[in-house]
Order: sequence, then structure tokens, then C-alpha cells
Amino acid sequence: MAITKRFLFLLIAVLIAFGVSAEPFVVVIDAGHGGKDVGALGRKVREKDVNLAVALKLGNLIEEKMQDVKVVYTRKTDKYLTLQDRAQIANKAKGNLFISIHTNSLAKKNKKRKTIKGASTYTLGLHRSDDNLEVAMRENSVISLEKDYEVTYQGFDPNSTESYIIFEISQSTHMEQSVDFASRVQKEFVSTAGRVDRGVRQAGFLVLARTSMPAVLVELDFICNPTQEQFLGSKAGQNKLAKSLFNAFREYKKASDNKVAAVEGVRKKAGKEVEETSFEENTADETEDFVAEQETEEPEFVYKVQLMASKARLSPKDSRLKGLSPVDSYKENGLYKYTYGSEDTMEAAQEILRKVKKKFEGAFIVVFSNGVRVK
Ligand SMILES: [Zn+2]
Repeated sequence: MAITKRFLFLLIAVLIAFGVSAEPFVVVIDAGHGGKDVGALGRKVREKDVNLAVALKLGNLIEEKMQDVKVVYTRKTDKYLTLQDRAQIANKAKGNLFISIHTNSLAKKNKKRKTIKGASTYTLGLHRSDDNLEVAMRENSVISLEKDYEVTYQGFDPNSTESYIIFEISQSTHMEQSVDFASRVQKEFVSTAGRVDRGVRQAGFLVLARTSMPAVLVELDFICNPTQEQFLGSKAGQNKLAKSLFNAFREYKKASDNKVAAVEGVRKKAGKEVEETSFEENTADETEDFVAEQETEEPEFVYKVQLMASKARLSPKDSRLKGLSPVDSYKENGLYKYTYGSEDTMEAAQEILRKVKKKFEGAFIVVFSNGVRVK
């Protein structure tokens, strides 16, 4: 029957068009600390417990409401994990987004300890202020609980300022998406969880540096402030915090799906799915449409490997480009982005990516059409 075949044609066309994006989106939820590493302490509430409760609630919400998302936890119980374990779990799961959940605190001697409040979300980057550095150092100090940490982290010293700077580059390729998600999280922390907004910040967290995907670290609120501690320790508070993260994630995912669909649309116009028109029940009109589009606009794609991004323009000989040449650059959202290679096919770009990954762990493929980045 004609209708059935027509339906079949549409179904197959849709499946092919979305085939590339059919893999589930993987979100990695990381409850900070755990086991012998308790994290920051309130009078009664411990950071590791708050982090885990919010992480599990967030994961449950996603699993319940978003069937096309796979949730991976770094821990689901009160267990100790090294920072490297966490990043490894995330990388192995080929995560599309990494969310590390923490609870903030000020040092015992700090006079603002009982009054400070608010939520902040960190992406990896240079430290804008000493405050941010202090938080990064505290979260990273878990390393010293591990044996041979100097060997494991290749000389990384959690107490040295310089060590943090080194890690900026490996995350910079995902900076834009990380900042996008972080901004959505902050908005939600205010509107859904009633938190004070302490903003999107940048700091050198090791756990973020080692994950090769967009990644953020949230500090839910200050456990050293008794009022905030009560909120953090309560079921109602934890539910609100998890809901905030869920809402932000849902919006972020929606935006990223739209981007993928737009790129697929461009590809379709390029005539890559023309083969499907050979179905006999396909009307002459439809076939003509495909052919006409193919003839009139034929965007040519150029596939490049993006290495990193920076705020300042780098010279071609800059050591951060690790000797690769020639390196092209383009500017997007106030950042200079550096690319290597210029290929006609995705396969050729993937070959280059494999080689470049040894030097630039976070490198990925970008697609240009008429000089404009489309993916
Ligand atoms: Zn923490």
C-alpha cells in the first residue's frame, strides 16, 4: 500500500538524518569527596553527604524525565575516590558533560564564616582572584591523601599556585560549552533554589582538568554558615538544589540538540541523503526537490581539528601550540580558537585528530562552510 511505503520512506529518512546523533547523551555526575575524605564540615552536616544526596537526586530526575540521556555516577555510595578515578570514569564513559557537586566553606579563621552565603559554579580557567584560588586548592588538597601523589599527578603540587595554570589549556577547548552550562546553573540556583548568586567563576580544579568534555564544578552553598548548613542538610533544600541542576541540564541539552539538528539540516541540503529518494513510491515532486536543492546550493565543508582557545592572540611560534604548524585561528565569542589541518572529509580530519590528541588531549573536530563554523 502506498501509504505504508511512504511512511517507511519517511521513517528511514529520519533515522538516517539523525543517525549521527542517535547515541545517548552521557552526563557524568560526580558527588565530591566520599569515604575517608569528608570534605568541608558544618556543625552537624558533612560535605560528602550533601554532595552525594544532591547527586543522586539529580540523577534520578534525569533518568525519570529524559529517556535519551544516560546517567553515569562516579560514586553512588559513601566511598573514597581519587580525583584521577573520577576523571577516568568520566572519560571512559565518553561523557558529554561532567558535573562535579561540592559544598563550599571558608577557613576556620575567616571572620565571614558564619555570614557568607551563595552558590557558585566553576569552569576551569585562570584564577581571577585569590578567593577562587583558595577554593581550588581546598578541593584539590584531597590529592595529598593519596600515596605517591607526586608521581600520579606528574609533579602536581596542590599547594603551588603555578600548578593550576598548567591545566588551563586542556580544558580551554570545551570552555564555551562549560560556561554556557554554568550560567544556566547559576540562574536556576537563584530562581529555583533561592540561593544568592556568587556567579560563574574560573579556577584550576584538577578533576575538571582531567576530563575531556565540557565540565563544571558547583559549590552549592556555604556549610560553615549555620543557616545555609541547615538548608544543605535538609531534604527540601537538597531537592531544590537537584531540581535547579536538572532544569539547567534540560535547557542545556535542548540547546545542544537544536545545534545538532541544524547541522544535520545543512548536511541534508548538501544532498548527502539523496540515495533514499530511490524508493519507488517516492513522488516525482519529492525527487525533484532533492535534486534541485543539490544543484542550487552545495555547501562545501571543511573539516579542521580545534586544538585550544585563548583570550589573547597567540603568535604562531607560541609554545602552547606545541610546535604544530601551520595553525589557523578564528575568533568566536571573544576567544581566539586555534585549528590544525583543513580537510575535505570527516575521515581525513579524524586521522589528524588521532595524531594531534597525543599533544592536545581535548582536541576535537570543527566543521566550516564558506568560512563559517557550522559544527
Ligand atoms: Zn568539596
